[in-house]
Amino acid sequence: MREFDLIQRFFDRPTRQGQVRLGIGDDGAILQVPEAHELVVVTDTLVEGVHFRATDGADNLGYKALAVNLSDLAAMGAVPIWALLNLTLPEANERWLGQFSEGFFSLASQYDVALVGGDTTRGPLCVSVTAGGWVSAGQALTRSGAGVSDRVWITGTIGDAALALALGEQSLASGGSETRWLLDRLHRPTPRIGIGQALYGLASAVIDISDGLLADLGQIVGASGQAGAIIEATSLPLSPAGESYPLDDRMTWALTGGDDYELCMTVPQAKSERMRRLSKEAGVSLTDIGCITDQAGIVLTRAGVPIAGPSRAGYEHLWPVIGEGDS
Ligand code: ADP
Ligand code: MG
Repeated sequence: MREFDLIQRFFDRPTRQGQVRLGIGDDGAILQVPEAHELVVVTDTLVEGVHFRATDGADNLGYKALAVNLSDLAAMGAVPIWALLNLTLPEANERWLGQFSEGFFSLASQYDVALVGGDTTRGPLCVSVTAGGWVSAGQALTRSGAGVSDRVWITGTIGDAALALALGEQSLASGGSETRWLLDRLHRPTPRIGIGQALYGLASAVIDISDGLLADLGQIVGASGQAGAIIEATSLPLSPAGESYPLDDRMTWALTGGDDYELCMTVPQAKSERMRRLSKEAGVSLTDIGCITDQAGIVLTRAGVPIAGPSRAGYEHLWPVIGEGDS
């Protein structure tokens, strides 16, 4: 199949998005930014064997490649508008492409995100999405505004994706509805778009949890120039689907597992009531799990008493270093 035909068949779709003046088909897309707004741009790449397995399903991959980007836009408080898709494919498998585009557009249409361009190349399977959205000028949420004694809140439940990963590949055939739910948490995370947009004026800092709560809360602490935070272990929102697993494992998955794509935000104590109201209005659970402190490090407590945390903070890519002295 020629590149042109592939794009026409699987990716060129009409959009209702008024701010897209020109989409797929030219050398570049033309996009409008409404007056008094700013453009927020995010990008994320999924590599086979690192971020997903060949057996995960093309529809899930298409969905997730966009979802992780929409999650970044949510963490910035932005309204998602458009996306670019860079696909590196070993072959043009029509069934695979059909499923991939179905997964991608099932999420894109939910938020009226227009696919406005991309690139298609031949090589080892890799999917990279760049997405854009708008915020009212000056209203983007960042990681850097957390203050001492701000409460730490998170959306939804955490540790589900890590549990699903631990379940392994055979589980889908043998598992019941709970297993399916967990696998969906891994493959089809829900970007917290609505909550993100509601946080302006409420949250002092926001991040999406992709590398594990400890690591990502650490990013907020660092970017905000703070010393540390306390997390109360008994407050962590764990899903009922994991109930049959040892609590220690569930804690480790929740704190370090990653791939949650929930939001973690800090909120001044005086606004706690508004957070509880937002949770009811948005139909998403929001849980107060701790606070920012002036003591160094992220401390885990149980009923207020410090306890030992997991030995590893979260997922990190490590590269073999090639430097001077190597030939
Ligand atoms: P060029 O050679 O100018 O880069 P291409 O032939 O790569 O153009 O792409 C033609 C058009 O198709 C461009 O508008 C490009 O943005 C779009 N496109 C290419 N690959 C994809 C893809 N995977 N998804 C969506 N649009 C794509
Ligand atoms: Mg090109």
